[in-house]
Amino acid sequence: MPELPEVETVMRGLTPILQGRRIVGVKLNRANLRFPFPTNFVQDLTGARVTSLSRRAKYILIHCDHGQTLLVHLGMTGRFSVKAPENPSPNLGAFYFDGPHADGKGPHDHVIFSLDNGVQLIYSDPRRFGMMDVFAEHAAESHERLAHIGVEPLGNQFHGAALAAQFKNRDVPLKSALLDQRVVAGLGNIYVNEALHRTRLSPLRRAKTLVKSSSFDPRLDDLARHIRDILQDAIRAGGSTLQDFADTDGKAGSYQQRFVVYDQEHAPCVTPSCRGTITRIVQSGRSTFYCPKCQK
Ligand SMILES: [Zn+2]
Repeated sequence: MPELPEVETVMRGLTPILQGRRIVGVKLNRANLRFPFPTNFVQDLTGARVTSLSRRAKYILIHCDHGQTLLVHLGMTGRFSVKAPENPSPNLGAFYFDGPHADGKGPHDHVIFSLDNGVQLIYSDPRRFGMMDVFAEHAAESHERLAHIGVEPLGNQFHGAALAAQFKNRDVPLKSALLDQRVVAGLGNIYVNEALHRTRLSPLRRAKTLVKSSSFDPRLDDLARHIRDILQDAIRAGGSTLQDFADTDGKAGSYQQRFVVYDQEHAPCVTPSCRGTITRIVQSGRSTFYCPKCQK
């Protein structure tokens, strides 16, 4: 599943392809992905010029000049391919993601956007857990998919105090609290495991134990900083933890080789002077990897 760094990387890759271009055609090869496309989808986007792109949690927002915004979630297997008019394997931006190159005719090529320069942007999604919607820009705050999302971990509002405010009344394991999208936007399992190890906090600790009546544990500032650093590192490394995502040379991104706890069961802990061993447990149906010796 694409995590926040992959979504950020896709958004940055799409920006030079889409920004300033007019969408001259939208073709839907089916009526739905995870949800049905809105009835006005093709009509609202045809003729629109893309002004900018942004990301919120794991959603890509494609802002258009007539006040409409295209909202995209890649689900588990969604990806974009770029097809240029005369070059079957174009390199139109710093990054694009094509895997096996889509031509718009494959069984999993569900949406085709035609741009005013002849380029086609093809959305493929074998498992169809992705979604797209189009909505009026001014309604973004109240959009059902965006309204309840928590603080953006790469934004200025993300720090120890923000985490403390969320953890204050949360009598749940720290890991569950961090994976709650109302607490932090778009944070996934891999990055939570890594950040908790770096901060030496146990994923089993109750979130509210880090908050006192008038102050909070200073490790919450460390936790926020480590989450930000780990996400930034992953974005710099090409954002890829997935075989499906390849950079322009067709290589998978390299960030997964740097995980120190995720998928490292039985490995020695890398914390200096800790002689612990990385252990795997299951929390809320998902794997947790941590060092029981130094994470308290
Ligand atoms: Zn350890």
